[in-house]
Amino acid sequence: ITDAELAALDDDGDGDEGAPVSLPVLAVVGRPNVGKSTLVNRILGRREAVVQDVPGVTRDRVAYDANWNGRRFTLVDTGGWEPDAQGRAAAIANQARYAMSVADAVLLVVDARVGITDTDAAVARVLQRGGKPVVVAANKVDDTKGEADVAELWRLGLGEPWPVSALHGRGSGDLLDKVLEVLPEAPAEGRFGTGGPRRVALVGRPNVGKSSLLNALTKEDRAVVDSVAGTTVDPVDSLVELGDEVWRFVDTAGLRKKVTFSSGAEYYASLRTAAAIEAAEVAVVLLDASEPLSEQDQRVITGVVEAGRALVIAFNKWDLMDEDRRELLDREIDRDLQRVRWAPRINVSARTRRAVDKLAPMLHTALEGWEQRIPTGRLNSWMSELVAAHPHPVRGGKQTRILFATQAGSKPPRFVLFTTGPVDVAYQRYIERRLREDFGFVGTPIQISVRIKE
Ligand code: GDP
Ligand code: GDP
Repeated sequence: ITDAELAALDDDGDGDEGAPVSLPVLAVVGRPNVGKSTLVNRILGRREAVVQDVPGVTRDRVAYDANWNGRRFTLVDTGGWEPDAQGRAAAIANQARYAMSVADAVLLVVDARVGITDTDAAVARVLQRGGKPVVVAANKVDDTKGEADVAELWRLGLGEPWPVSALHGRGSGDLLDKVLEVLPEAPAEGRFGTGGPRRVALVGRPNVGKSSLLNALTKEDRAVVDSVAGTTVDPVDSLVELGDEVWRFVDTAGLRKKVTFSSGAEYYASLRTAAAIEAAEVAVVLLDASEPLSEQDQRVITGVVEAGRALVIAFNKWDLMDEDRRELLDREIDRDLQRVRWAPRINVSARTRRAVDKLAPMLHTALEGWEQRIPTGRLNSWMSELVAAHPHPVRGGKQTRILFATQAGSKPPRFVLFTTGPVDVAYQRYIERRLREDFGFVGTPIQISVRIKE
């Protein structure tokens, strides 16, 4: 293996390559009805609007994986903020502030046919001060006639307005080229991990007790800290003090004020869940211990594993437990949770507050595993022992040899095996199991990939 190959595995040295958190973030902001969702769908290459207007439902920010000309980035649709007590302009300015705090670049959408409204001007002022690159999309320019309206938007003070028709696609390629020009290759340092509270997603299917647990947690230590000096708090996240530490529970707005809506409710819920997991470092998947484990529970767990986040499994409603149910549950765990047996489990009751104070230590355990690194030298001496004791099976007269192994990244831990041939899935699982036995990696998925050297 050459130094160049090694370097390519970990090109910026932070060990996060491949992890979704390392993508730069583009936030789309603008007042309601300017065409943000239409534009987001256009960028994502979807035909119909994914996010429809349902009266009374605040479209919250949702994160998507986007790709333009081979460059991947995270697209955050900040959605429409309902005018609150402070009025619409304030709500929109908050949206812009939020975008500034999470994004590496901002796409401001304006309705060119309407021109600059007071709200647009207020948002522009926030963006001017934010210090992040901004691209102005002059939307609803459906034909050449519309171009006449565009020049006026220079007055926003954010540089050249880019004419686009989100509806018909006109100009969207040029707009995206411009966006990618200003979007940094890698996200800003410090958004995850270093500095600021650790980010937790509290997820699970409806009615498992997420809001109840959040309430119990916030009561437990009295303090729901709504703003902490020097921290920008997204209005939909909650800062919660557990023990003597502040944690940031992401995307809890929907838990706090319960909206009831009928159409597409499940779809909304799953988008929210995915966005929360994406924004978090560690997820608490809440299950209802009094009911059988369901498909839906499994899907939430899969979401966490596939996103590469640390995982804690919490069985709620433990106050309803009796011996019979307990026995059944043990069997369900054996049968359905084998694939995540590395995840720490905790039995809680939001109602009685049983064990809720045990949650924070569990989160730490899972985060430690998630961030753990094994030095290359140690890994390879370990690997040669493993291989000597348990060589790869011979397939078709050939035996794959493992030449070298390295941990290319953490958060979650990623290993690369350099080999002389393909590695059986069963053998990869064996390696994963042994890694966990010997090094821990509690509470974190592990990714293993194979590079065959000719
Ligand atoms: P949002 O509230 O900013 O997300 O706006 P939407 O994407 O929901 O769009 C609001 C309305 O404007 C919808 O009726 C869209 O069909 C319409 N719209 C969006 N983009 C365009 C466009 O480029 N041209 C025209 N003519 N209408 C558009
Ligand atoms: P969410 O949809 O996941 O946010 O669930 P909720 O917090 O709204 O709880 C759903 C239902 O379960 C409510 O009726 C709660 O009172 C009940 N519940 C939540 N936690 C517990 C618990 O620990 N024990 C019992 N017995 N009921 C609970």
